[in-house]
Amino acid sequence: MATENWKQALSEAITSPAQLLTSLGLSHTLTSQINEQPDFRCLVPRAYLNKIQYGNSNDPLLRQILPLTIENQQTGLLDPVGDLAAMPADGLLHKYHGRALLIATGACAIHCRYCFRRHYPYSKASHTPTAMQAILLYIQMHNEIEEIILSGGDPLILDDEKLAVLISQLETIPTLTSLRIHTRLPVVLPSRITLQLAQLLQHSRFRITLVIHANHANELAKNEQLALKRLHDAGITLLNQSVLLKGINDDVTSLSNLSKRLHACYTLPYYLHLLDPVQGAMHFDITRQAAIVLMQQLQAQLPGYLVPRLVKEIAGKTSKTAIFSI
Ligand code: SF4
Repeated sequence: MATENWKQALSEAITSPAQLLTSLGLSHTLTSQINEQPDFRCLVPRAYLNKIQYGNSNDPLLRQILPLTIENQQTGLLDPVGDLAAMPADGLLHKYHGRALLIATGACAIHCRYCFRRHYPYSKASHTPTAMQAILLYIQMHNEIEEIILSGGDPLILDDEKLAVLISQLETIPTLTSLRIHTRLPVVLPSRITLQLAQLLQHSRFRITLVIHANHANELAKNEQLALKRLHDAGITLLNQSVLLKGINDDVTSLSNLSKRLHACYTLPYYLHLLDPVQGAMHFDITRQAAIVLMQQLQAQLPGYLVPRLVKEIAGKTSKTAIFSI
């Protein structure tokens, strides 16, 4: 596995939908459906592209990242989970007891078409020294907060130096005990998971949980498995959250294979989210009834520890809402 070249790999990511289709031999099949200049721009690292099957217009990885004209439909919300109403300081979200979420960056290594923060005003989360001071002060004044979640964007887009500074700033607050990192980098750019990064996390005084984001077993090939093993060997708890997406993983075989593949990659399934109703992504939505049937089928196939919790985030609620019935 490459160790130091992740920034180079990031700079070589594909940003043109037409180039994406050409790379996959799909120009003739899909050109009429793509949005060549979407507001939420196309971004696909080659490490992810290499896992998409050449010539397969229905590939479940391709469908997650290909900008389509259907996104222009105006249904859905700009802020589907109420982030903006839960922001006590720029870049800090405080929705739930005991934990708060810090928008570490607005940047990602990939742009997932169903992203619930695709319209988020990331300019409100720039970590100027003054903004960071306000964040730290808020956390200090709310000593019931024991866990900070680094999110974004993707926090592992920050280089090791920036990440180390951020973590050490948080470590100065004695009431914080745990750090959670929400990241898709081990899945879409596994070269980011260097030995140095693993050591940086390992040496923190925080208990660290890394929540990755994979939606399909094909996203977790050999390099991703090695990256996750490196984190596992550093003593980091690894969980996965997925989004239930029409045409991508809305069948029991895909979900079962994903859970088994995650287990082989040292990672346990955590949440399976119903789609957040974000504008531009409603074509991925499946009904709650269909989701419950899928969960019943999944429970009949897998041991309990490989069955994720079906949840929905509802703006204003004090926790994620578990979905058990229609
Ligand atoms: S990596 Fe996460 S934050 Fe970034 S576009 Fe994908 S879902 Fe959104």
